[in-house]
Amino acid sequence: MNAIEQTELHIMSTYGRNAVTLEAGSETTCRDENGKSYIDFGSGIGTNSLGFCNEAWADAVCAQVRTLQHTSNLYYHSPQAQLAEKLCAMTGYSKVFYGNSGAEANECAIKLARKYSFDKYGAGRHTIITLVNSFHGRTLCTLSATGQDVFHNFFFPFVEGFRYVKANDIADLHEKLDDTVCAIMVEYVQGEGGVCLLDADFIKEIRSICTERDILMIADEVQTGIGRTGKLLAGEHFGCMADVTTLAKGLGGGLPIGACLANEKCADVLGKGSHGSTFGGNPVVCAGAVKVLEYMEQDGVMDEIEAKSAYIRERLSAVSEVAAVSGKGLMIGIALKEKKAADVLQQCLEQGLLVLTAKDKVRLLPPLVISMEELAKGMDILCNVLEG
Ligand SMILES: *Cc1c(COP(=O)(O)O)cnc(C)c1O
Repeated sequence: MNAIEQTELHIMSTYGRNAVTLEAGSETTCRDENGKSYIDFGSGIGTNSLGFCNEAWADAVCAQVRTLQHTSNLYYHSPQAQLAEKLCAMTGYSKVFYGNSGAEANECAIKLARKYSFDKYGAGRHTIITLVNSFHGRTLCTLSATGQDVFHNFFFPFVEGFRYVKANDIADLHEKLDDTVCAIMVEYVQGEGGVCLLDADFIKEIRSICTERDILMIADEVQTGIGRTGKLLAGEHFGCMADVTTLAKGLGGGLPIGACLANEKCADVLGKGSHGSTFGGNPVVCAGAVKVLEYMEQDGVMDEIEAKSAYIRERLSAVSEVAAVSGKGLMIGIALKEKKAADVLQQCLEQGLLVLTAKDKVRLLPPLVISMEELAKGMDILCNVLEG
């Protein structure tokens, strides 16, 4: 039996997979079992920020796996400490909690917000406002936080205490605010929801409401964080620092990690015994994440991301099938006039290019390290498919 047959027989069929079995990758290209190669514009959904098997990253990961692969959080170890110090220094946050995924990072943020409010104001101030069309994860609590009706099915009862506000609708935001609210949670660019960038005014209003009413602003930067939008954190585009920021996808360079960052005001809300994760902050994963941050620290990296973004937008502007381009940095949504995003994805795959979709858009999340040459080759394929 081949991998596809084994998968279909033995893995729960929760995913709509493409009929390709990938075997190996290097830099920003991978190949399947038949030796066909693909340029990668998806980064394993924004995770392989340094491309496939980046050398510095792979060396650090392999060295760590041969030295000390896991300890649990009953002990101290250097990789998670070093990563935390770096994360805090680079972002301005005070403390971090590690989980293993975006959903777990968000669970931590939600628990932190509720406890912050409980400690200070007592019971009943537990409502978290999120946005219509958001995506915050697949656990029961983060599904409840996700403001899309399609996700609120089958698994009843969901976690109570979430309220959904229309993105960029300041009046709706004020209408849904009351004394039970303890946090407002947003993605600066809604990724799964269709690569929709929030308005600067709306973000400014959220930030000032949160400060005024002492409720926590939570930025879900699971997809937008770690350079994806051309800044280390997408909040920097708006001069906005949330009280709590969650990270995951791009941080691990392709290994599972989630991180919940808290500012000084709420850094000590979660004390001993209030939260935990057996694997969270695993040494191997953290050793890799340190290498991702070392890459991000270099001069000119963010400018390069912006230049690559500008190039993609310029190429797309010449394609008549493109109705609109959304997003920020190397997180790009392409609205189409006639074609279906799923068909474009399929044709790109056939021609050796991996792309993603989000709602009815084609979505691009190329590895941040992609060369201009490789980017141009990929855009040739994409533009051909779109024009065909
Ligand atoms: C992907 C994503 C999540 C969920 O991350 P998992 O690692 O799949 O749990 C949460 N929030 C946003 C914004 C995401 O893009």
